[in-house]
Amino acid sequence: MSHSEYNTERNSLAYSVEKNVEVHAQKCYQCGKCSAGCPVADEMDLPPSMVMRMLQTELAANDEKILRSHSIWLCVTCEMCLSRCPMEIDIPSMMDFLRQRSRSEKKVNPKAKNIIAFHKSFLNSIRFTGRLYELGLILDYKRQSLNMTQDISLAPKMISRGKLHIFPDIIKGKAQIARIFKKTSN
Ligand code: SF4
Ligand code: SF4
Repeated sequence: MSHSEYNTERNSLAYSVEKNVEVHAQKCYQCGKCSAGCPVADEMDLPPSMVMRMLQTELAANDEKILRSHSIWLCVTCEMCLSRCPMEIDIPSMMDFLRQRSRSEKKVNPKAKNIIAFHKSFLNSIRFTGRLYELGLILDYKRQSLNMTQDISLAPKMISRGKLHIFPDIIKGKAQIARIFKKTSN
């Protein structure tokens, strides 16, 4: 059966996933190998095989649960599920799309607050220095997550061992980086 023969409903989340990242939920036959190999499945409210099953139903209530789930934010894009899937379903790309959709529809799970703060701080580091500036990332993350004291006692040791640099190392091509951010920001 070709992908187009799956006849996915046009207003369903499965349809959007198919259109945007070419993941065809109906190809999944629920073997469970993705969930069995996922390193964070135990922490997830919806393990990856469950997300696939819920997409297949094309029910609005299930689409809503997926977009409001914590799982989509816990996925670390390790690609273990993709390497184990007999149908080669690209769950990591799908999770990435679901995160974007969840944000654009303002349905982010409240438990994902700190994960999003970390993503923002990581991107800010790249935006301002062109590379990862660890100390800046940590300080920005603490500012965004309002968790100023967590792990603070580790900082002096890490600085003395050269694991954290006080000043950033800024790349020459900052203008190109700025252009990339401008092009990809929505
Ligand atoms: S890519 Fe995400 S869903 Fe897949 S195994 Fe890794 S953490 Fe789990
Ligand atoms: S490994 Fe692939 S076919 Fe099996 S449940 Fe996961 S997505 Fe579906």
